[in-house]
Amino acid sequence: MTTDTTNTESYDVVTAGGGPAGATVATFLQRQGYRCLVLESTTFPRYHIGESLIPNTFGTLDRLGLLPNLRESSFPEKHSVRFVSPSGEESDPFYFSEIMPDEEARTWQVKRSEFDQLCVDNARASGVEVRMATTVEEVLFEGDRCVGVRAQPRDEAPYEIRSKVVVDASGARTVIGSQLGLKQPVPGLNKASIWSYYQGGKRLTGIDAGETTIFMLPDGAWFWYIPLPDDIVSVGIVGSPELLFAESTDFEAVFQHEVERCAPLLERLSEATRTEAVRGIRRLAYRNQQTAGNGWVMVGDAATFLDPIYSSGLFLALGSAELAANCIHQGLSTDDLSADSLGAFAEMLGDGIEVIRRLIHAFYDPEFSFRKFVVKFPEHRAALIDCLVGDVIEKDMGDFLGALAEMTPPPPAW
Ligand SMILES: Cc1cc2nc3c(=O)[nH]c(=O)nc-3n(C[C@H](O)[C@H](O)[C@H](O)COP(=O)(O)OP(=O)(O)OC[C@H]3O[C@@H](n4cnc5c(N)ncnc54)[C@H](O)[C@@H]3O)c2cc1C
Repeated sequence: MTTDTTNTESYDVVTAGGGPAGATVATFLQRQGYRCLVLESTTFPRYHIGESLIPNTFGTLDRLGLLPNLRESSFPEKHSVRFVSPSGEESDPFYFSEIMPDEEARTWQVKRSEFDQLCVDNARASGVEVRMATTVEEVLFEGDRCVGVRAQPRDEAPYEIRSKVVVDASGARTVIGSQLGLKQPVPGLNKASIWSYYQGGKRLTGIDAGETTIFMLPDGAWFWYIPLPDDIVSVGIVGSPELLFAESTDFEAVFQHEVERCAPLLERLSEATRTEAVRGIRRLAYRNQQTAGNGWVMVGDAATFLDPIYSSGLFLALGSAELAANCIHQGLSTDDLSADSLGAFAEMLGDGIEVIRRLIHAFYDPEFSFRKFVVKFPEHRAALIDCLVGDVIEKDMGDFLGALAEMTPPPPAW
């Protein structure tokens, strides 16, 4: 099909992707008076993995106005995280209330089809125009300045849209990163993941009922166990591809095999029935060499994804979107849409992401354990929980990282 360039529309901000990051950046900017358009390639509600929020999403969700919806939802409340060793020995739960006020010390385990719909409905209610079933096929440049996108609606002719700023919020698809060849693997971090859903998995009681439980396997792999509405639990394994796919590359076969070798998990699932097909991703971690340019910026998974262990994905998606919205507002109001101006938030975020990256590497170091760390450095237990709740942005974590380095070597530099 030929591209229609005769009737080019124009916006202040076009966002590629209507997931939580895309919806959030557009909501904040539209409320500041900018004309925002979200282009989303699927039709919502749509399935997505990544169901466990962490408490430090509270501020952004509050400013978005979504807390009442979450409080009224059927999403299980999450107050803590617990680790279970291969032998079945359970850590004390890390309750968020140890370091946070009551109201903020719990969050939610969300069904993404519903949560993402809430975010995008909220964007629409704020005045954002959202076009579903419309894929950003290409980001348009004049010289090194991004000037818009070429959109491909399903079953219709493609067309061009001009925009002062283009936000890449396309998740792992990373529209701009792929187009400009910026996407790279993360040194020292190469994990795969396979997951599915069960009905009737056992739950704990009281405030532990909605906890995330992490079941460790002896070889560094681990399972998440995340309670969702309607008596469903999300169960997934993360491990090195060499380990997971040693005998078979078939997701279904590998998942079944791994569940069966995790006795404490099997016990939780003893009366449960699997309700969905098995899904998987063979390589999880990536980053982009550059996350902002003249007239464009990346947010959420479009910029970086490391690992699911600390459930930091949605927190970084929402947080980066809010920070990017501030920079875009600043850039539009001062007519400075340079890479430095639009990407000014990346440094703030980058230090926090580095703390999370250090902790991810610690987690996968066979010589390291949180139990040993807390025994050796009881004074850093609170900082460890800061990491579990996401309180790592614009915070001096130097002492904590120093202590961590005494027990596990820092990973290779980015
Ligand atoms: C195995 C696994 C487990 C995870 N577990 C957790 C967890 O427990 N907690 C947590 O917080 N996070 C978790 N995550 C991460 C979480 O899923 C992501 O961080 C989060 O979805 C990022 O939101 P986003 O808006 O940046 O991207 P997405 O949610 O991926 O949204 C991107 C949107 O862009 C659309 N899109 C893509 N390409 C185009 C295009 N060209 N044009 C238009 N639209 C496009 C997509 O359809 C999609 O709707 C997990 C991730 C994985 C892989």
